Amino acid sequence: MLSTLLLRDAGTSRYLGAASIVQKEDNGGSFAKDFASAESSREASSPTAASRGHGHAFAASLVLGTAAFYSSLQQVAKGLIEWSVGLALAALRPNEWVDFKLQETYDVNHNTKLFRFSFDPEKNLGLNVASCLLTMADIGTKEDGSPKKVIRPYTPISPPDSKGYFDLMIKVYPQGLMSQHIAHLKPGDTLAVKGPIPKLPYEPNKKKQIGMIAGGTGVTPMLQVLDAILSNPDDNTQVSLVFANTTPDDILLKEKLDRLASAHPNFKVFYVVDKPTEDWKGGRGYINKDVLLKALPSPSDDTVILVCGPPGLMKVISGDKAKDKSQGEVEGLLKDLGYPKEQVYKF
Ligand SMILES: Cc1cc2nc3c(=O)[nH]c(=O)nc-3n(C[C@H](O)[C@H](O)[C@H](O)COP(=O)(O)OP(=O)(O)OC[C@H]3O[C@@H](n4cnc5c(N)ncnc54)[C@H](O)[C@@H]3O)c2cc1C
Repeated sequence: MLSTLLLRDAGTSRYLGAASIVQKEDNGGSFAKDFASAESSREASSPTAASRGHGHAFAASLVLGTAAFYSSLQQVAKGLIEWSVGLALAALRPNEWVDFKLQETYDVNHNTKLFRFSFDPEKNLGLNVASCLLTMADIGTKEDGSPKKVIRPYTPISPPDSKGYFDLMIKVYPQGLMSQHIAHLKPGDTLAVKGPIPKLPYEPNKKKQIGMIAGGTGVTPMLQVLDAILSNPDDNTQVSLVFANTTPDDILLKEKLDRLASAHPNFKVFYVVDKPTEDWKGGRGYINKDVLLKALPSPSDDTVILVCGPPGLMKVISGDKAKDKSQGEVEGLLKDLGYPKEQVYKF
């Protein structure tokens, strides 16, 4: 009877209504517990208690079972509330294109820019670490003259709980359809965005060590995970990032990474460039076995290695993802070094 009431209420009410469902369930739960304890004290004082033992055990299990049922209903209702409140406070919509206004653009280096988009300052983006989002724009025309929809994923690098804005760091390719489109937006222009697209659900302290291997803008998901770890004083995960670029000038956010490494003993960064300047003090050439042996945690159940970069880097380091975009087998240097599939994640 009560459960019907709960379900009917759940179906018709929104946030406040749903909160009162929890209240009702709490009452139901404590009512059941009170009933059970009242029964057991009565049983202890009754002369015919032994003969009624089985009946009482049955009644008690019925009551406990009912309490468990209410408790699981409560969990479902709580989850629904959190989900709907989260969705109401989130600027992103998983199944809907939302227009975000470009607020400002900053140069990160000679070919990469940071784009800050704004939204209602009461809201946050609604993205869990690590996730990306999709952008869409009409760029060019199809043969029939209709606009061509171009869609590309990007990984926000602003803290996921930032209210009212998010940042994309995008390398602008001379022939790149979307990167050129975004680079030509002016403050106040909008971009259609959808998401989040969840990648790797990060949980603090789940692994003792995380190794990261990134090439170029492949550092963006690493920055998301890194910020989540280093901004949480209770997260003791040790992180080492191997960051590959063509020249020292190509290294994105080097100052930020160096600052984080000197401020946090649990974070180390190692740069590799294949066209070094004479005074370059980091690694030279491409990432190789020696670099990974020195920089990464060894294979272990307490370790995971995250990899993201252009196809050439993925092929050499970990093998690319499978055609269906699942993780596929571990190949390349990580395979040679003995990291099994469960210890490697390809973004
Ligand atoms: C999950 C995910 C997250 C991503 N996050 C980011 C991010 O945060 N920041 C970011 O800058 N990019 C990111 N990318 C890449 C991004 O989605 C686009 O592929 C990239 O911006 C190029 O798109 P475009 O339309 O500008 O170029 P396109 O029109 O697709 O390509 C045109 C030309 O640009 C050049 N080009 C394009 N991509 C590459 C490349 N990877 N390497 C070398 N040359 C290339 C080639 O000459 C190519 O012919 C991400 C990709 C994925 C899959």
